[in-house]
Amino acid sequence: LSQSHDDLSALLAAPPQPTRRACAPALEEQLYRVNPVLDHGFVRVIDYMGTDEAIVQAARVSYGAGTKQHTGDRGLIRYLMRHRHTSPFEMCAIKLHVKLPIFVARQWIRHRTASVNEVSARYSILEHEFYLPSPTHLAEQSSDNKQGRKEEAISAAQAAEVLALLERDARHTYATYEHLLNDDGSGDPADPARPQLARELARINLSLGMYTEWYWKIDLHNLLHFLSLRLHAHAQYEIRVYAEVIGQLVSAWVPLAWEAFEDYRLGGASFSKQELALLRALVERAGPEAGLGASGLGARERKEFRDKLGL
Ligand SMILES: Cc1cc2nc3c(=O)[nH]c(=O)nc-3n(C[C@H](O)[C@H](O)[C@H](O)COP(=O)(O)OP(=O)(O)OC[C@H]3O[C@@H](n4cnc5c(N)ncnc54)[C@H](O)[C@@H]3O)c2cc1C
Repeated sequence: LSQSHDDLSALLAAPPQPTRRACAPALEEQLYRVNPVLDHGFVRVIDYMGTDEAIVQAARVSYGAGTKQHTGDRGLIRYLMRHRHTSPFEMCAIKLHVKLPIFVARQWIRHRTASVNEVSARYSILEHEFYLPSPTHLAEQSSDNKQGRKEEAISAAQAAEVLALLERDARHTYATYEHLLNDDGSGDPADPARPQLARELARINLSLGMYTEWYWKIDLHNLLHFLSLRLHAHAQYEIRVYAEVIGQLVSAWVPLAWEAFEDYRLGGASFSKQELALLRALVERAGPEAGLGASGLGARERKEFRDKLGL
């Protein structure tokens, strides 16, 4: 991937090419640009396919004249998102170059619906870069959420001690790595008296805070699923910040789909049978039209709201 950095800089400097493909101008501006994340990480767009119009086109192939009842592209995309008609969103895809700590990569790779090419530590020597949290993100174990940390950071003095330990170990394991590789930078032994251990073995003591890199290609439907999980407050801060950057890229790429996603997924919630019964009783008590006029919902969404509550 390091080699590809130079290629991408050349692409960034190259004049734009005319194309017949539908483009998203705001994402074109982002192509190949590095968006920094954490202390050494980044996300950048390598390529993309489709726009909001591609979603609409695909839906119209399915539904034909039936889509005319929707008020334009925005209304159709919102209808598709609301009713989980997901396949039109799969017509859009994006390829990202991501640099991320290995412990973040382990969470990320659980999303199986993407294509991945990762830098090979069997083939390449990993760079001396490891993640050190900022002191404000160092906190004690949460007592009510076993998978998380407390909101309040530890004191500055405690943070300095923690960071010194994390840094000491990261430097120590990297020094061992370099010792085992015994490489003078040009492939020859730094110390001819010692072996040059295979890269696939020399790496095994490196820590989870080391950075790795990959190309990650995914369609929009699965990307939104990834974002709904990794933008959630329960997701670990260190992966959430990547999701936030990707969310900004998606909002530039497909603004109508992003708006619908924010309204119906990120800002929405699903209810159990019992919770729905409770809501129905509350709304019935207030009167079925209470608040609906000022809700901003269109006539169709108001009907859907009543139908959902069984009113
Ligand atoms: C806050 C948080 C905490 C987590 N904690 C843990 C943990 O402690 N331990 C742990 O192991 N994981 C944990 N995970 C990972 C989690 O269980 C999922 O593996 C991960 O979020 C990927 O979700 P996914 O399978 O829906 O996504 P994807 O793999 O992208 O799949 C998308 C969808 O495709 C379908 N799909 C994909 N592959 C299959 C398949 N083989 N069979 C059937 N359907 C499939 C499913 O509908 C799935 O929802 C955590 C995730 C989050 C967000």
